[in-house]
Amino acid sequence: MSTDSHPNPLAKARIAVLGYGSQGRAHALNLRDSGLDVVVGLRPNGPTWHKALADGLQVVEPAEAVRGADLVAVLTPDMVQPTLYKESIEPNIKPGAALLFAHGFNVHFGQIVPRADIDVILVAPKGPGALVRSEYERGRGVPCIWAVHQDVSGQAEAKTKGYADGIGGGRAMIIKTDFKEETETDLFGEQAVLCGGASELVIAGFETLVEAGYQPEIAYYEVMHELKLIVDLFYEGGLTKMLQFVSETAQYGDYVSGPRVIDAGVKARMKDVLRDIQDGTFARNWTAEYKAGLPNYKRLKQTDLDHPIEQVGAKLRARMPWLQPNPAEAAAAPLKKVG
Ligand code: NAD
Ligand code: MG
Repeated sequence: MSTDSHPNPLAKARIAVLGYGSQGRAHALNLRDSGLDVVVGLRPNGPTWHKALADGLQVVEPAEAVRGADLVAVLTPDMVQPTLYKESIEPNIKPGAALLFAHGFNVHFGQIVPRADIDVILVAPKGPGALVRSEYERGRGVPCIWAVHQDVSGQAEAKTKGYADGIGGGRAMIIKTDFKEETETDLFGEQAVLCGGASELVIAGFETLVEAGYQPEIAYYEVMHELKLIVDLFYEGGLTKMLQFVSETAQYGDYVSGPRVIDAGVKARMKDVLRDIQDGTFARNWTAEYKAGLPNYKRLKQTDLDHPIEQVGAKLRARMPWLQPNPAEAAAAPLKKVG
């Protein structure tokens, strides 16, 4: 947190936040509440324009927000950033200003080649926007990782830390990284372990039980519902806490059967996935897929949505009243995304 003796290096800066979704809203509100000068850049009458206005922020079109800004935070979806950069940022950003990202994908893979006369920096909170905001409101913060890709002003690192302070990250912890490490580890985590790995593990477990004749409802509870208990224990206290809170029988089964399922072949294939990320194959394929109108993405998504675990899951979750959102939470829904 900045104090009078250590003023935030962005104290006199105008900050343009482009995008008002999960991260954009949290960053804009936290920066404003830290006493910094914030303007939000959005497409007129886009889905979040009125939300930003209702939150009391100044909202203008992206190009106008960029003009006159000393720091431009690019917080739109990654795939729209190259066009946004070409059309609204590149022609308008001031020499010496800073261009900030929350994910290094476009810069690292050359989808955006920033002008040579601006700073290029990264601040990525290690949490979803909702937490970035709620922790800030409680006087705390979510740890952030930060990086400098290009420093023309000699102030790039100070601006990066000022921004991390402004969104509350400085109250928790900030860790230095670079665009390559942030981008490659972020993609690997979501593909191999979090989104891709975990969902395939759950589906394989569900299918194994159902194909063996067990009821889908029972299978759902065992392999999807109860995963939350285990993940919460990991989150709170790592493997140690998980092992403390499960039975001896569960522990013994973990030790002897876990490595039979997740064996050396899995790790070898994780290395293949990592290689595709590192050599740009994934980025090339994903960019081509996006430009083609997402034909495979839509088909593969539909396959997940049509899986029997989704029918049985919807039926069972409807009987879990603690899961039904209250209207206030539903209104904050855009903050709930992770990624
Ligand atoms: P989001 O999808 O939640 O929000 C995107 C916002 O951009 C919306 O306000 C949308 O209306 C706006 N938008 C879309 N197209 C636009 C355009 N052409 N011009 C102006 N605004 C436009 O996005 P997000 O999840 O907050 O992700 C933003 C960035 O943060 C990405 O780089 C992402 O990788 C990164 N990030 C996200 C998380 C997370 O938890 N969601 C965590 C760390 C980093
Ligand atoms: Mg999947």
